[in-house]
Amino acid sequence: MKNQTYDVIVVGGGIIGLTSALLLADQGQQVLLCDAAEFGQQASWAGGGILMPLYPWRFSEQLNEFYVYSLSQLKLLLERLRKDTDIDPELYECGLWVLGLDEEETDAFEQWADRCQIVRYCVDTATAPLHFRNVSDRHFFLPEVKNIRNPRLLKALVACLTQHPMITLMANTAITQLRVPSAQMVEVLAGQTVLTARKLVVASGAWGRQLSEQLQWSLSVYPVLGQMLLLQAHMKPLNSMVLAHGRYLIPRKDGRILVGSTVEQVGFRKSFSKEGYSKLKLFAESLLGSIEDICIEAQWAGLRPGSERELPYIRAHPKHAHVWVNVGHFRNGLVLAAGSARVLSEKMSGEYSSLSSWNF
Ligand SMILES: Cc1cc2nc3c(=O)[nH]c(=O)nc-3n(C[C@H](O)[C@H](O)[C@H](O)COP(=O)(O)OP(=O)(O)OC[C@H]3O[C@@H](n4cnc5c(N)ncnc54)[C@H](O)[C@@H]3O)c2cc1C
Repeated sequence: MKNQTYDVIVVGGGIIGLTSALLLADQGQQVLLCDAAEFGQQASWAGGGILMPLYPWRFSEQLNEFYVYSLSQLKLLLERLRKDTDIDPELYECGLWVLGLDEEETDAFEQWADRCQIVRYCVDTATAPLHFRNVSDRHFFLPEVKNIRNPRLLKALVACLTQHPMITLMANTAITQLRVPSAQMVEVLAGQTVLTARKLVVASGAWGRQLSEQLQWSLSVYPVLGQMLLLQAHMKPLNSMVLAHGRYLIPRKDGRILVGSTVEQVGFRKSFSKEGYSKLKLFAESLLGSIEDICIEAQWAGLRPGSERELPYIRAHPKHAHVWVNVGHFRNGLVLAAGSARVLSEKMSGEYSSLSSWNF
């Protein structure tokens, strides 16, 4: 069966595919967005929604610049969603505590904060909140760091895309094969169905490499499992996010707290474990005091699109200029999504921007 020819087919409807489809459609392109399951149910749903890369001072200036750029694009996106939908993604400016930095890393933190003009307070042990005092000698507070309730952001995006006259959404459509019959055409197979378009964007997250390899394009993208716990509302009051020794706590506006996260390379196995549960519970208890099992409302896991690169891959196939990817956002896909979609849409339309020369 042959269908209509779209301007662009976007494969993968996580945060990256959804935001990419929206900006491409806003340029006037007829976009088909398909996902193997329901939209936004994989890593983008599972994530914590911290709107800052974890430990940004460990990364290059370029990543930090892109993160700031992405926040400005996210602001525009949220304004748009506020107008077009009645779903509140609950942007929460609750600030972030950074605990447990050693001396060397404290220097790197200070230099980063100076360079990027980040508002921060250094608090000594005596004046730190009681439950943080045994974690480190010095505590930093970044009052402007926000989080977003990512499942709600995804819902708002899907609602916005559903109304968009230039977008067709196809859930439960797993793409099994990609073909490039000519420089003006791509064919995308979902079982027996052949979908055709003038351009293709692969935005299938941790599964990005499986599809790109069909076109002899080997990208270093691989699944990295992350487990999370959710504490029931108001069981343990917390006013701000906390980052310590690679793990974090994220309060939501309704009083629930997310506890994250593990970082495990176990292939495409997406399951949570007793070990993950214990590690995260122990971490939460080190900051909040003892937690009864009944306080834990849920546990889940997601597959991040891991990558060795700091920047995501946002580029065209070396031989097929009409085949694109927007993948490999690893731990930063929620904060970088709006910026990545902007870069993709500009690159695909040949628009020049200050980021045009970057090695995405
Ligand atoms: C536990 C955890 C915590 C995180 N915390 C944060 C955080 O606090 N801040 C932050 O910025 N980032 C965070 N992240 C990272 C962030 O969630 C990811 O980088 C981001 O969601 C990646 O988005 P994506 O759209 O590329 O992938 P996904 O959301 O996984 O979407 C990919 C989509 O492609 C679809 N797909 C795959 N193969 C096919 C196919 N063959 N055909 C059709 N569709 C297909 C899938 O069904 C899926 O819906 C976290 C991730 C995890 C797991």
